[in-house]
Amino acid sequence: MENCIFCKISKGIAPASIVYEDEICIAFMDIQPVTPGHVLVVPRIHAEGLSDLPEKIGGHLFKVGQKIAAGLKNSDIRCEGINFFLADGAVAFQTVFHVHLHVIPRFSGDGFLLSFGPDYRNLPEREALDKLAMTLRSSL
Ligand code: 5GP
Ligand code: ZN
Repeated sequence: MENCIFCKISKGIAPASIVYEDEICIAFMDIQPVTPGHVLVVPRIHAEGLSDLPEKIGGHLFKVGQKIAAGLKNSDIRCEGINFFLADGAVAFQTVFHVHLHVIPRFSGDGFLLSFGPDYRNLPEREALDKLAMTLRSSL
């Protein structure tokens, strides 16, 4: 896609601090890191979201994410834990519409928090979970 920043980075026509690359994907430092060492793993093909991404490439992104995670733990970048994060759709906080996997190093007191809706603490009945599982199973 012509105007897609991640396509441009992948083609080498926009700048990025590259950590890893192969024929399928490229991994580079996020320009606005949640914590120092925050990396994005990006497929070279332009896929807007998860449903546009071939499964095999999705699997490869995860594999490279694991490699980056291991690298972070091996490095002197502060990293007591890792979050993988993938935003699929604006409602899920996607802002760049070229699918990408965030690899975010975490440490105690890093200030990155999750917040939940008001019903989060009310655990659903097993029956409700079973019903949802059945609904979902039949749409796989
Ligand atoms: P999203 O919200 O779509 O999951 O994440 C988009 C991420 O891309 C953000 O963390 C943002 O900081 C990062 N980002 C946006 N534009 C650029 C850019 O031009 N270069 C780099 N390296 N990261 C970018
Ligand atoms: Zn793109």
